[in-house]
Amino acid sequence: DLNRNDEFGTLADSLNHMARTLRADNEKLKMLNEKQSQFFADITHEVRNPLHTISGALEMLELKNLQPEKKKQYMLTAQKQIKRVARLFEDIKTLQRYDFDENFINREVFDLKEIIDEALMMYEPIAQEKGLQLKAANLKSFMVNADPNKMEQVVDNLISNAIKYTQEGEVEVGLKQMDERVEVYVKDTGPGIGEEHLDRLFDRFYRTDKARSRDKGGTGLGLSVVKGILNAHQSDIKVESEEGVGSRFYFRIPIYENS
Ligand code: ADP
Repeated sequence: DLNRNDEFGTLADSLNHMARTLRADNEKLKMLNEKQSQFFADITHEVRNPLHTISGALEMLELKNLQPEKKKQYMLTAQKQIKRVARLFEDIKTLQRYDFDENFINREVFDLKEIIDEALMMYEPIAQEKGLQLKAANLKSFMVNADPNKMEQVVDNLISNAIKYTQEGEVEVGLKQMDERVEVYVKDTGPGIGEEHLDRLFDRFYRTDKARSRDKGGTGLGLSVVKGILNAHQSDIKVESEEGVGSRFYFRIPIYENS
């Protein structure tokens, strides 16, 4: 009878639809799973290296008749590597939060300039020690509605990278008004970044030069933390770079209008 056929037709349609949805969900899960496995493989790899170095340094420290200078050197090596592992886990903790909880940012209205002033003060001695000039350009007040702690983390990461990878010259930090948005930029006279790296630069654990980054205490996670924080603010991190000339990292967020 006709009615029954209709009902069966509708039922078959919904079953088909359910099967399709399940298949799509399954695909998504599989992709997520693969991503997680890769992430854990990366972490294991990143932790194994410093542990190896620490273990080697401790073995050396056990040697009899070790010169005091050597002893100091091995202690320092071990400490440096322990700090690196600690930093790695801090970064991972931050990253996990962005993945699983988008409500993690606590917005407040504040002056962006204050955060930059503080960062400049904090990094001044480090830049000076390297013989780099740390410059502020055009710093005026811009009120924004964002998470001040997270914005601090973004600015810190960008300035610390600029200082870390620049051998000579200067690092310039500035604010620029672009219509209703304010642009924050960090510009350096460092080695620049080859075009072939730009696509993946903000991926977790991606480095243009693994040895150099590790040597400088890098975890390879800094820029992915920056990207995560800015994405949670509906913004994005961008870079313009020329090899042998330098890099300019920047992002834009809306200026807060009190109306
Ligand atoms: P890392 O802990 O290795 O610094 P990041 O995620 O902060 O990790 O940066 C990823 C990579 O991007 C770095 O290893 C480095 O190769 C490159 N990079 C970042 N900032 C700069 C810069 N200002 N100049 C040149 N290369 C940079």
